[in-house]
Amino acid sequence: MSTALDLLNRVFGYPAFRGEQAAVIDTLLAGDDALVLMPTGGGKSLCFQIPALLREGCAVVVSPLIALMQDQVAALKELGIAAEFLNSSLDGATAAQVERAFASGQLKLLYVAPERLLTQRFQSLLEQARVALFAIDEAHCVSQWGHDFRPEYLGLSALHERFPKVPRIALTATADAATRAEIRERLDLSEARVFVSSFDRPNIRYRIVEKTDPRRQLRDFLAGHKGEAGIVYCSTRKKVEETAAALKLSGVAALPYHGGMDNATRARHQETFLREDGVVMVATLAFGMGIDKPDVRFVAHTDLPRSVEGYYQETGRAGRDGAPAEAWMAWGLQDVVTQRRFIDESESDDAHKRIGHAKLDALVGLCEAASCRRVALLSYFGEASTPCGNCDVCLNPPTLWDGTEAAQKLLSTVYRTGQRFGAGHVIDVLLGKTTEKVNKFGHTQLSVFGIGAGQTDKVWRAVLRQLVMRGLLEVDHAAYGALKLTAAARPVLKGEEQVWLRAIAAAPSRRTSRLAPSSGAGVHDDEDPLFLALRAWRRETANEKGVPAYVILHDATLREIAARRPATLAELGEISGLGTKKLEVYGEAVLGVVAGEG
Ligand code: ADP
Ligand code: ZN
Repeated sequence: MSTALDLLNRVFGYPAFRGEQAAVIDTLLAGDDALVLMPTGGGKSLCFQIPALLREGCAVVVSPLIALMQDQVAALKELGIAAEFLNSSLDGATAAQVERAFASGQLKLLYVAPERLLTQRFQSLLEQARVALFAIDEAHCVSQWGHDFRPEYLGLSALHERFPKVPRIALTATADAATRAEIRERLDLSEARVFVSSFDRPNIRYRIVEKTDPRRQLRDFLAGHKGEAGIVYCSTRKKVEETAAALKLSGVAALPYHGGMDNATRARHQETFLREDGVVMVATLAFGMGIDKPDVRFVAHTDLPRSVEGYYQETGRAGRDGAPAEAWMAWGLQDVVTQRRFIDESESDDAHKRIGHAKLDALVGLCEAASCRRVALLSYFGEASTPCGNCDVCLNPPTLWDGTEAAQKLLSTVYRTGQRFGAGHVIDVLLGKTTEKVNKFGHTQLSVFGIGAGQTDKVWRAVLRQLVMRGLLEVDHAAYGALKLTAAARPVLKGEEQVWLRAIAAAPSRRTSRLAPSSGAGVHDDEDPLFLALRAWRRETANEKGVPAYVILHDATLREIAARRPATLAELGEISGLGTKKLEVYGEAVLGVVAGEG
């Protein structure tokens, strides 16, 4: 009889289980329910795919994402597993065929959209078929407070009532305790064993920089990722278009993606991103939900997202395959100001606005962190950790200076000028510049006039920015960007609190070059002619079959092949990611490519 490990080796071609996978599988094999919280790329799919193969009957997998179903089923078929999906993309005849195969016990896994699962027709199919287990993917869609709420998910608790003996597994990459509790309650999973993995993504390197010259900063960053697939997020459609066009001009295989494009073009761009190697998708934040591509090597934010949750989710799309990946973000004061205004001017009630501001504060805190980014990120999700050695702060600790006196001077100037002026004028007064405006308001007479002359304009701007970011000063949009003191400014003005500031980003280009060599995961390997040849072969094969390249073989597998240069099928079979079926179908061809490049 096959065991789970045996299947993992033989069918999937992987040597060992990761993290909690084995324990989750055992739970389902014993007929019990499981709630699995694992970060993106943690390996959730195997948790139900292996029990599906070992239990009698067919596993029914509920997934809200049509695009994803298709690719997962294609990947399973590549492994020689009888899998199908049912969703609105199928024509009637094909759907009927799948239904028959399901009812007559020919399938091991069936992926269905939730709305279809709840139909009368499907319910009666369920009665006829033998169900091995129910897997509820993206289980956080049941949470009414989350952004991915899907009302049909609420109906899924009925599964348990109708099929009390069939084990269920709910899976999600959404970490917070409130969502977790909601899933348990709404899906009727109070008896389920809960598996919580660490939400750390150790292979992702975090880097957060202040915007100085955004276009150049992005170009420099991308230079470290030549030929790699990645996502560049922009806050607006217009910026998406402009950035994609600029990147294309500079030779990057970039494509735009946003809600304002027509459906056909958007779908085509997504398809190209999934199927071809090394495409850079320039997109608004909506892009990526349901993108299962394992070899996204970087995620770049050119603007600040809305919350730490959003940042974590978006950056999490990088490096699902476990190979080194980078999450890079450029942010600036303007981002914070725009978002605050957005929150204030939204239709939501005060409670929601408060939450919006608090979430933004937490994200700004992460950007401002003078200690390990990963520690800050994980602690936001309630997880303790130690400095990672794989973020910009760990690799290149920022210099801090005692900015207490500078802060006092600046805050006093805001106060003495009546909290009615914006940054430019306040700094002019600090520097002692006699501009027309300064004269007009008689500000040369103030005690603060010229008290900041010892520092440059640039330093004052940096101080001001940091004070706004930390909430000591606020920008009043209603009053044309006038700066105002907040309650947090008082203890600083009274000398009760110290203010440590980051030194102005000293030579950002130096930072880039220090990090770049070790950061681009594939830069060196990509120059290996064998790796390139394998990739070309894979693209051809994927095109013939009409599936994404990674469904054939993963990058990591190609790299290992390129490094080990196997000469026989037996040697090839030792490489992770090649199970029996793939060896049988592609083994000879791969060995041919290796021999040809030898
Ligand atoms: P998730 O759904 O949690 O985001 P997936 O199930 O898509 O993650 O798995 C992420 C990647 O890791 C996939 O490419 C998968 O093949 C691979 N993977 C999963 N489990 C293992 C394992 N035990 N050993 C090696 N690779 C694995
Ligand atoms: Zn760190």
